[in-house]
Amino acid sequence: MSQIQNKKVPNLTAAIYNKINRFLTKPPIDNEIQVGKIRITNPNKVLFDLSNVKKIDLARYYAAAAKCMLPYLKNRITSVVRCPDGVEGECFFKKHLSTISEGISEINILNGDGELEDYFYIENIYGLIFEVQMNTVEFHTWGSRIENLEQPDIMVFDLDPDEGMDIKKVRQGVRDLKKILDNLSLTSFLKTSGGKGYHVVVPFVPSVGWDKFYQFAKNISLLMEQKWPDRYTSNVRKINRKNKIFVDWERNGRGATTVAPYSVRTRTGAKVSMPISWKELSKVTPSGIDIKNALRRLSKPDPWQNFFHTTQKLN
Ligand code: ATP
Ligand code: MN
Repeated sequence: MSQIQNKKVPNLTAAIYNKINRFLTKPPIDNEIQVGKIRITNPNKVLFDLSNVKKIDLARYYAAAAKCMLPYLKNRITSVVRCPDGVEGECFFKKHLSTISEGISEINILNGDGELEDYFYIENIYGLIFEVQMNTVEFHTWGSRIENLEQPDIMVFDLDPDEGMDIKKVRQGVRDLKKILDNLSLTSFLKTSGGKGYHVVVPFVPSVGWDKFYQFAKNISLLMEQKWPDRYTSNVRKINRKNKIFVDWERNGRGATTVAPYSVRTRTGAKVSMPISWKELSKVTPSGIDIKNALRRLSKPDPWQNFFHTTQKLN
């Protein structure tokens, strides 16, 4: 079904990560900084006004987060949000590649209309840092890997509360969803969205196609709606969301994307979509982690350490 143009790139070692981190902790010289083969120009450009986060700070953040982030980003079709004039300026969502770089590959696949469309994916830290050079702030990925494009392995439920909803209700929603998944013996993981809600993420061994995967996610959302019709809706329409949470399952279709774990958001304050432990649900708000908090968390135990060790399957 899919045609893959795949360039082979050697795996990067810890030594390369260390080298890149050494580059990035040096102050910029001559208004640019070289990261391996990637040059970061305008390192002092301010991307987040209020928190004074500069382009070089973003490059440093992603270089530090790369080890944790790449397992969720690498070899997945990616769309990015770029903000050449900072997040207060015009930002755009980019699905296609315009500049070839080391660490980024193009892939031609059939889209939903049966036409060939070119997408791209990041292969390693160079691709990640190159995107920062291109003023990318956010990374959004598909739920499958390019090696197995038609069998998704990451399911996401995005809890979208109605405007101004009490955080306690949002947290209850996350707990209710987790309980349903627990009852199905499915291990799930939690992250902040960096915005208004939480994302509940379920890893799978790839086994079923997109249609079954999508339908399964939909059924979970429908079940929430049926069990607690005053709390949840499975319908995207805002009119159905009055005082409720939309349990968004629609991101689990072929071609849909969700913000990747560890991605910075274009929201004020340089917030991060950060993996957190279930215990932290009652303490950490959806926008409670910014780049600075995230950097501190990177040296702590990984709350998602078993993510790729689960063997759960749909059939
Ligand atoms: P919040 O908690 O504030 O709802 P979120 O990450 O859940 O944060 P959005 O940032 O609004 O919500 O994400 C919207 C969804 O649509 C994501 O799945 C994203 O990948 C996708 N998306 C965002 N922008 C575009 C776009 N321009 N075109 C297509 N899809 C997009
Ligand atoms: Mn959301």
